[in-house]
Amino acid sequence: MEYPGNLFVVAAPSGAGKSSLVKALLELDSRLMVSISHTTRSPRGQEQNGREYWFVSEEEFRAMIDRGDFFEWAEVHGNLYGTSRAGIESRMAAGEDVILEIDWQGALQIKRLFPHAVLIFILPPSYDELLQRLQRRGEDDPEVIQTRMANARMEVAQARHFDFVIINALFETALFDLKAIVHAQRLKYAAQRRSRKAVFDALNLS
Ligand code: 5GP
Repeated sequence: MEYPGNLFVVAAPSGAGKSSLVKALLELDSRLMVSISHTTRSPRGQEQNGREYWFVSEEEFRAMIDRGDFFEWAEVHGNLYGTSRAGIESRMAAGEDVILEIDWQGALQIKRLFPHAVLIFILPPSYDELLQRLQRRGEDDPEVIQTRMANARMEVAQARHFDFVIINALFETALFDLKAIVHAQRLKYAAQRRSRKAVFDALNLS
């Protein structure tokens, strides 16, 4: 599928700082919009329906799968998560840039559907640092943290399938790296031809 807008997909093990990086990027970049996923997990803390996620029952989620409503979906840590077509298709068709913050399984599904999608993997600087971040975050019980750490080793191994890798040791440096990737993607010939069509036409460039 070819849409004029750019599609960025960011994945990482939990605790690597993906959400904070994407949030900071969105505040700096008004041409980028984030897709709100559907999930069967319950809201955490201050999360609101329609802001962080669309929170739905497993029955609703499965009905959406059956209707073909998702571009991709996956089971992550025992819950279902999916990117709906409705949320992003019209925006990409209108030439807007969309960013997906999803797990590696979903990212690879998206790459198959949209070969021009840019896949970015955020790595922690070490497993020790990842553990400390999960503990400091204070959102999860110790057993959940243990599961997340076990999953992290398998998730980190998926980084090799991604186009770009950012090591999030220092937040500001990682944010700079993320901005650089987005900027460079927009400057690619094909992306420029899609977004600056009038200039290309005036220059007789195809
Ligand atoms: P959390 O429950 O901590 O918000 O998210 C757990 C994991 O699910 C994270 O890696 C998150 O990026 C991923 N995730 C969130 N939304 C989606 C989605 O729509 N599709 C897929 N495949 N993963 C998602």
